[in-house]
This record gives sequence, structure tokens and C-alpha cells, in this order.
Amino acid sequence: MRKIDTGKLVVITGPMFSGKTSRLLELLERELRAGRKTILFKPEIDKRYSKAHVVTNKGIMLPAVISPIGSKTKKFIFEKSKGFDVIGVDEAQFWNSKSNLHKVLDDLVFLKKLVYVSAINKNIKNEAFETTSKLLIRADEIHTLTSVCAKCGNDATLTQKIRDNKEVFNKVIDVGGNDKYEPRCRNCYVPYKR
Ligand SMILES: [Zn+2]
Repeated sequence: MRKIDTGKLVVITGPMFSGKTSRLLELLERELRAGRKTILFKPEIDKRYSKAHVVTNKGIMLPAVISPIGSKTKKFIFEKSKGFDVIGVDEAQFWNSKSNLHKVLDDLVFLKKLVYVSAINKNIKNEAFETTSKLLIRADEIHTLTSVCAKCGNDATLTQKIRDNKEVFNKVIDVGGNDKYEPRCRNCYVPYKR
């Protein structure tokens, strides 16, 4: 394994359905192939995943850990990361402000770890997810992905919440998939009126 001479914080961001998790797993897979010990953290809010590992597209098994998303984050992630060179974090927007996830991960980067994070940048109201914003400022490298607009096929940079074919803006944090959300371009996105 090539020694890691400097840590790095890589943030993969964009709207829902832009392939952030796939990109994250791809990048982690590269690190695994380079012989680096790699672990993935997922937020405890996301009940879609409960397994102790994730299998990448190419069939590589990766240990995955469900992490607390509040004040217990630092202790938990530091303890679980011991002995790992590479740390992945999926769906980072779900960590709340008490978690200080940006500082936790920044500290790990200063310990010469490679940290890869996927995070939605904007909520359904086209406002920032606070945790993502703080991570983006500290990032050494940012991958901004787009989705495909569900209405017209343009590149989509926004996420719209839908109920009964209508745009809604209630419950900004609400885990779901294409039953609740769709990607939209700037032309097709219906803005939230204050
Ligand atoms: Zn569109």
C-alpha cells in the first residue's frame, strides 16, 4: 500500500438521484483496491440501510456502520475509525448541528486520513443543508453531480418534494425515494414562496 502522505476531504454533492452514493462507493473501491483499510458511516436516520456492510457494484465488501447524528458523533466516529486509513460518510446532510460533523471529519483529515463524504447540498426549499455547507467550505476537493430533470430531461440541480402530483414544502427532513421526491432543473422547479 502506498503511504498516505497527506489527508484529504473530498465532498460529493448535488441533488437527490444524482448518483452521489454510487460515486462515493466507486471512490472507496479505488482505495480498497489500493490496499487501504476503508470504513463507511451511514446516518442512523436512514433506515433504508441496516446491514453491517455494503457491497459495491464490483462486488467488493465494505464494512458499514450506522452512526449517531447528534452530540455523540465525534466519540463514535473516532472510536470506530481507529485503524482505518479511509473513511466514507454517506448522506451527511442528515447529521445535525450538534454533531459538528464538519469538525469531526476535518480533525480526521489532519490525522492523515482520506475522508470521502456524500451530501445533498440543498433542501426542497432550495436552501442549504447546514452540515453540507460547512463541509463544502472545508473540502479539499468537491465533486458536484447533477441528476436528470423528471419533467424535461435537462440537467437537474434541485430536488422537488411531491405529493399527489403537487409540489409540497412540508417536513424538509423526510427520508424517502422517488415516491416523495423528484429531480428538477431550474426551469421546472417550483420555488418555495415565503
Ligand atoms: Zn426541467
